[in-house]
Amino acid sequence: MAQTITVKIKLLPSKEQAAILQSMSQTYIRTINTLVSEMVAEKKSTKKSSKDVHVSLPSAVKNQAINDAKSVFKKAKKNKYKNVPELKKPVCIWNNQNYSFNHTHISMPIVVNGKVSKTPIRALLVDKDNRTLELLTHKLGALRITKKANKWIAQISITIPTVQETETKVMGVDLGLKVPAVAVTEDEKVCFFGNGRKNRYKRRKFQSKRRELGKRKKLIAIRNLKDKEQRWMQDQDHKVSRSIVNFAKKNKVSVIRIEQLANIRQTTRTSRKNEKNLHTWSFYRLSQFIEYKANLEGIKVEYVNPAYTSQRCPKCFEKNKTQDRKYKCKCGFKRHRDLIGAMNIRYAPVIDGKSQSA
Ligand SMILES: [Zn+2]
Repeated sequence: MAQTITVKIKLLPSKEQAAILQSMSQTYIRTINTLVSEMVAEKKSTKKSSKDVHVSLPSAVKNQAINDAKSVFKKAKKNKYKNVPELKKPVCIWNNQNYSFNHTHISMPIVVNGKVSKTPIRALLVDKDNRTLELLTHKLGALRITKKANKWIAQISITIPTVQETETKVMGVDLGLKVPAVAVTEDEKVCFFGNGRKNRYKRRKFQSKRRELGKRKKLIAIRNLKDKEQRWMQDQDHKVSRSIVNFAKKNKVSVIRIEQLANIRQTTRTSRKNEKNLHTWSFYRLSQFIEYKANLEGIKVEYVNPAYTSQRCPKCFEKNKTQDRKYKCKCGFKRHRDLIGAMNIRYAPVIDGKSQSA
């Protein structure tokens, strides 16, 4: 078994290169849309090769566009042409034999002055802990280049083999404020991560400093302090997610389950921690960090429906309200209340669709 994840890399093309990418990515989707509408009109897949497609793209990219068009057509045919998608967002794709990279550049054939030439484009491949380059040692898939909020982004899909192939072992992770994270494995190994009290203390200190600077109208200092606070919190999330994944690895866990956060916002009433809404973003970031680091280790991350995960008895599934530090059920089950969430998350219904939205 294996899984595919996408590595995002910021590109820094020259002005000239950016203009070429812009025009190539528009040509790319226009080519696909044209081919798809031809196929839909004829109700059969195209026999065209790159020689028959007269657009200004390298032939490898044309072939990629033809393949993409064929798969769009195949899907449209399957639902009886009820829904023929039209690509709108400019993008250009090279298959894995057509690009290469080093520490500073990604190179791919582009059309310069009417001629195809393999051109290195500056890219931010070296990051803080060399994660990107480490990721790119895996089996590489296609390179997509697209523009997001005026920035050029390269997306490379990579395939990572899953570690455990025979046995699934699940670990539930409950994210919270009092305790930043609690993990419980299927064989009842428990671990607490982070220090909620220390985090609150630190944030209060940041807050009072900000207030003081506010009185003195030090606007730039306030902004710098905010950045500093953000960096500090992000660093905490990196540390917590790293220890969670290390704990999972140590216990040979193959699936980590986390609550789906988008739902917390939608179903505030059934949500157990209302104050969580205010913290949706930080929980989102932490779960993204966990997913990212877990995937690198071949551990899958699944998101579950958070309803009643802190109320249900993990043994008999009865709902109980906890007042005490201890969770007690009529069936005789007793455990520290902070563990109940993670225990239930292990077996809560998994939500389809891999990724969650912020
Ligand atoms: Zn019970």
